[in-house]
Amino acid sequence: MRRLGVLGWPVAHSRSPAMQNAALAALGLSDWHYQRLPVPPELLAETVLALPGQGFAGVNATIPHKRAALELADSASEAAREIGAANTLTFTAEGAIEAENTDAPGLIAALGFAPRGMRALVLGAGGSARAAAWALREAGAAEVSVWNRTAERARELASELGVRAVASPAPADVLVNCTSVGLTDEPQAPTQLADAANVAKSLQLLATEGRGLNQLGLTFDQVGEYANVVDLVYTSHTTALLAAAGAHGAHTVDGLQILVAQGALSLRIWTGLTPDEELMWEAARAA
Ligand code: NAP
Repeated sequence: MRRLGVLGWPVAHSRSPAMQNAALAALGLSDWHYQRLPVPPELLAETVLALPGQGFAGVNATIPHKRAALELADSASEAAREIGAANTLTFTAEGAIEAENTDAPGLIAALGFAPRGMRALVLGAGGSARAAAWALREAGAAEVSVWNRTAERARELASELGVRAVASPAPADVLVNCTSVGLTDEPQAPTQLADAANVAKSLQLLATEGRGLNQLGLTFDQVGEYANVVDLVYTSHTTALLAAAGAHGAHTVDGLQILVAQGALSLRIWTGLTPDEELMWEAARAA
């Protein structure tokens, strides 16, 4: 049995096992299995070092382990080093640990177009915001701006990655939400989403209630100024941000599409095979 998994704390919510096991089965890798690995930060190092001996070929790292995963590796890609975080570790036959960050290329792949020459705005200054800002800069965006609730963190990220921090969400061609805003929002009743006027009304209500959009420094109308809107958050329902963007006719990319894109890249690193992303998306959605 070749084993793979996702290290997180907590990790019970992860849809990666369903998605990756569906891909492995479709590739005919019936002796491979991908599992959740709930590991607290204080046990991360000893767990990672023990995994190759238990038959693990590699693992993903998610919250809160991405920075520590990079530090545990013997070697790392330029992307992982510059971003300062790794979401993919590979255990080589020689006993080494190699680190990669597939969040960054996963974002660009899921976008569905090259952001070259465009203005991009990243909301947030955590681990995923670092990967997004780096990815957009590397993909040739003409300008990458970063806004964060805690302005100091946006300034630090901007100076480290050579992008610019902004005091309020700036105009852009591509907006990428890398905050956790939207993760705990209640789904809206289907009747409220029946037509665009009602979508606008319910989202304006959300914004005035101190939830959803205004935690991102945005109003419903301002969301309409972004032609492409990406939300890394994935929930069982459409987030307030993507509902607003959709109501304005923007091109939208949700968190599940991003999850699939980064997961497919990780699986290719471990197996050398190209998985079926449509099937991975179906499995992740159903999970
Ligand atoms: P993180 O490092 O903990 O960063 C969280 C960010 O969210 C910070 O910028 C924080 O701002 C901001 N934030 C939290 N609560 C907020 C609020 N109420 N109002 C405004 N800003 C708020 O997390 P992360 O690893 O970057 O992940 C961020 C989100 O992306 C999570 O929901 C995660 O599940 C999702 N994600 C999805 C994928 C995918 O494959 N789809 C991949 C990675 C991450 P402060 O600095 O002010 O605290």
